[in-house]
Amino acid sequence: IGQLAGGVAHDFNNLLTAISGHCDLMLLRHDQGDPDYGDLVQIHQNANRAAALVGQLLAFSRKQTLRPEVMDLRDTLSDLTHLLNRLVGEKVSLTLRHDPVLPAIRGDKRQLEQVMINLVVNARDAMPDGGKVSLEARATSVEAGRLDGILDPGEFVVISLADTGTGMEPEVASRVFEPFFTTKEVGKGTGLGLAMVYGIVKQSGGFLFAKSKLDKGTTFSIYLPEYTPSVEEEKEIEEEKAARTVERKPADLAGRG
Ligand code: ADP
Ligand code: MG
Repeated sequence: IGQLAGGVAHDFNNLLTAISGHCDLMLLRHDQGDPDYGDLVQIHQNANRAAALVGQLLAFSRKQTLRPEVMDLRDTLSDLTHLLNRLVGEKVSLTLRHDPVLPAIRGDKRQLEQVMINLVVNARDAMPDGGKVSLEARATSVEAGRLDGILDPGEFVVISLADTGTGMEPEVASRVFEPFFTTKEVGKGTGLGLAMVYGIVKQSGGFLFAKSKLDKGTTFSIYLPEYTPSVEEEKEIEEEKAARTVERKPADLAGRG
């Protein structure tokens, strides 16, 4: 399905580019007073929406180019909470907690943002009468034998997002990562959100799963491997450190003098 989605998405993207390009040209030839102007704007907006959907398909099929960087999730998540708070609306409260010391991870910031946005929007949708979303980041070790075949043993950072929403029946929970699986009305859900989340997390070398209880709520947990620098990177870091020490020296000497 991933390959199919990826293949179709690329062709589809090209078609969309042509549609919105021609639409742009027509918009240039019609001013706001023109009777066709409103329809052209509609075509344009819908082409853009379609492009966003294709982006999700590409993420699901793991064909997106990742721009990984080393990051401290405490900062990344704190930066995001403002946006997430606005997304959940007024009836839902969002809290963020993290371990005081958290190993660095390596990932694409923008994609991680997409992941968190999708999870938070789903949580909000599951709490029409309001509730709580708890976002947490903590360090954990996966021992051999615990998640065999899913994750290699090692050190991980777990991001968990718990809501107090409707929860899911087991039949629903087992299908949430399927592309196009949705329980929402036509026009409300695409069923691509979690498929995309899954694609991004897998592409980042991680794993995620959902735990849900009907009428109690749902928790998504994302495991991301701790970042350990490669031999070359280690060398670079050392060189940088050495360079910084040299720079500092005159000041140190001045201090002592
Ligand atoms: P969409 O949100 O467009 O329906 P998703 O892939 O994001 O697609 O989610 C698929 C389905 O998983 C949803 O339609 C819903 O049934 C279920 N789901 C996802 N997150 C939650 C949640 N936090 N609580 C309850 N159900 C959820
Ligand atoms: Mg969704």
